[in-house]
Amino acid sequence: MKLIDGKKISATMKDEIAAEVIRIKDKNGKVPHLAAILVGEDPASQTYVNNKAKACEKVGFDSSNYRFPVDVSEKELLDAVTFINNDPDIDGLIVQLPLPDHIDNQKVIQHILPEKDVDGFHPVNVGRMTIGLPSYVSATPYGIMEMLMRSRIETKGKNCVILGRSNIVGKPMSLLMARNDEPGNATVTVCHSKTQNLSEITSRADILIVAIGQPEFVTADMVKEGAVVIDVGIHRVPSSETKSGFKLIGDVRFDEVSKKASFITPVPGGVGPMTIVSLLMNTLKASKKEIYG
Ligand code: NDP
Repeated sequence: MKLIDGKKISATMKDEIAAEVIRIKDKNGKVPHLAAILVGEDPASQTYVNNKAKACEKVGFDSSNYRFPVDVSEKELLDAVTFINNDPDIDGLIVQLPLPDHIDNQKVIQHILPEKDVDGFHPVNVGRMTIGLPSYVSATPYGIMEMLMRSRIETKGKNCVILGRSNIVGKPMSLLMARNDEPGNATVTVCHSKTQNLSEITSRADILIVAIGQPEFVTADMVKEGAVVIDVGIHRVPSSETKSGFKLIGDVRFDEVSKKASFITPVPGGVGPMTIVSLLMNTLKASKKEIYG
């Protein structure tokens, strides 16, 4: 079994981005700039936004956080998006989700200019990806494609089973794995909560991508000998083994599945670090106007 080391791959990608930032700065005098909108005080969302700001600093990007109280009106939020859309210094904008119930998430996402939608959530970017046009691809699927490519994992002609069909992971992942490109060209099956005979389907997978949000759901008996297993899930669970009293686990039973897999991503240190670096990669592309010219 080979571990797919997301920490190492993402560190290499960060070095590549940082080197490119120096080149861009020398040429244009401006560095890529990522803005984030955060509503409310949810600790997990605050941590995500802070981590993104730290990652920006590490590679030499500018970053700005726009924070709003939980009772911000939808209009105020849309006005903030307009303001950022019109700021020529800002290349990319992300809105940390979920937003409070009184705000229509889709309305806010669709207000972001597709050219600045580095999360790749705007229907224009989703549609462009679907038909194979240049687009911002949402960060987690983007990161997984980079992992597969950089680990030299062959996807062409393979049976790929994806557990989960969310808009941010499962659905885009299925399109990317089925596309006529490398990585891609896989024969893809998408499973969800209504899928019957799940184990039978997963047992046929050469590549199994798991994003269902169920701790340690995938066990060894569900996995084919020699499969490539990508675990997207992240769960913080109580643990007597750590100082903090918590540990992170995935959607896959790593201890037993790793004995059967040819390649596997750990949790933590697998898909997680790839997600942030992919957002940086999208922001770099935005600053270079690579997608929309
Ligand atoms: P969602 O909750 O949006 O989607 C879960 C999907 O899994 C749904 O399609 C659901 O089916 C399906 N599902 C749930 N239970 C089962 C089951 N028992 N059998 C088969 N399918 C099932 O999750 P996300 O895609 O947003 O996230 C998935 C996991 O990945 C979470 O643990 C999340 O924390 C993690 N995550 C990690 C990231 C990272 O950077 N590492 C980034 C994003 C997410 P249905 O559609 O029928 O409801």
